[in-house]
Amino acid sequence: MEKFETDGIVIKTKVTGESDLIVFVLTRSKGILRAFAKGARGMKSKLHAGSSLFAYCNFAVTEKNEICHINEAEVKEIFFPLRTDMRKMALAQYFCEVLLKTVPEGDSEEEYLRLMLNALYLLCEDKKPVLQIKAVFELQTAVISGYAPPLHACAECGEFQTDIMFFNCLTGDLFCETCGKHAQAPAVPFAVIAAMRHIVYSPFEKAFSFQLKEELLRTLTALTEKYLQNCFQIRFRLLEFFWTAAM
Ligand SMILES: [Zn+2]
Repeated sequence: MEKFETDGIVIKTKVTGESDLIVFVLTRSKGILRAFAKGARGMKSKLHAGSSLFAYCNFAVTEKNEICHINEAEVKEIFFPLRTDMRKMALAQYFCEVLLKTVPEGDSEEEYLRLMLNALYLLCEDKKPVLQIKAVFELQTAVISGYAPPLHACAECGEFQTDIMFFNCLTGDLFCETCGKHAQAPAVPFAVIAAMRHIVYSPFEKAFSFQLKEELLRTLTALTEKYLQNCFQIRFRLLEFFWTAAM
């Protein structure tokens, strides 16, 4: 039997038994932890708040025969504003789906947790457009997972910047105005490419800090969404739910 503590955020819950839950927690260093929270559905349970979706806690866990049980959950943040806005809620749930399907099993990068926490804090604060938070989350997830697109220059001639550039969502390759005419990739205004470069190459704490007009944000997030799905060859089911809620 092993006891340990870890910080983490609940990204999925599943009902089991009469009042128990299985919680999926994105932890700082142990990847996604699957654990039983006994009695957690009871309103008076000391695990009730800490085992709800998006609860960010310090968890005390016991592991025996490879099965984990949560003994205590000290709540640090519950991201309450998400629950009052359907569009934000839908986006946060999509983030959970992305993490569940992309974070590798076992030990993993702390960056995933940092990215999720940052994205949720920003969603709650209301200071950045929802589509911007979505785009950064998608592209950063690709970067952390080892799929950073090579955006430094045109993949064919090395040109750094032209007014219109072309981004191939399948390979992540970038092309200038001339070379891109033959590439099978959508034409993108340079401001969008500049934002993508910012997300990929800035220090992490600055990744969310840029400004783009609403219409260009739509172009940006359409590209990051497609690129992330192509990296993992996955269709994220909750995307549709988000776009419906976003209308
Ligand atoms: Zn070129």
